[in-house]
Amino acid sequence: MSTDSSPETEIDISKKEILISSSEINQRVAQLGKEISADYQGRELHLVGVLNGAFIFLADLVRQINIPCQICFLQASSYKDQKVSSGEVTLMHNLDLRGKDVLVVEDIFDTGLTLKYVMEDLLRQKPNSIEACSLLNKKIPNKAEVTVKYIGFDIEDRFVVGYGLDFAERYREVPHIACLD
Ligand code: 5GP
Repeated sequence: MSTDSSPETEIDISKKEILISSSEINQRVAQLGKEISADYQGRELHLVGVLNGAFIFLADLVRQINIPCQICFLQASSYKDQKVSSGEVTLMHNLDLRGKDVLVVEDIFDTGLTLKYVMEDLLRQKPNSIEACSLLNKKIPNKAEVTVKYIGFDIEDRFVVGYGLDFAERYREVPHIACLD
């Protein structure tokens, strides 16, 4: 974990624009949970959260899903304390998803590089099915070719934090989505 306390990371988050309030998030997460439960009725769902950013979203989402599920995580990183992707994705996990119905849960679908990498990696394990769910989808051109079946909110190309999303490991605990730029 970074312990950086340089002026760039010392931001008064209460003064930053709230893009999506916590009540809007709760409502949308409840809708997604319903939709996912209906789509996977009669099956056991394996939710794979992409750490670190998806930990709060997954925790809330799973409590809105009313079918049997198993929950696991993998670690993906590409930003390394920056606001712009390094373009390199590293993954860490010891999952075994052969024959399972898998839903990858991501915080934000930006360039899509991370999700594409994760999906390709997990597909090699030959799951029965694999889909993706992202709380946020940034509307930017030239996204990686990956289908995200469940999307919470489409947002403009701005750097956001809160509800699990960080800047240099800060602000994950903020209950809403705020803009840093
Ligand atoms: P992608 O590979 O789609 O470009 O980026 C995916 C990862 O980058 C996300 O899982 C997230 O951790 C990080 N990311 C992308 N955009 C943002 C943003 O606006 N704010 C924060 N905090 N992280 C972002």
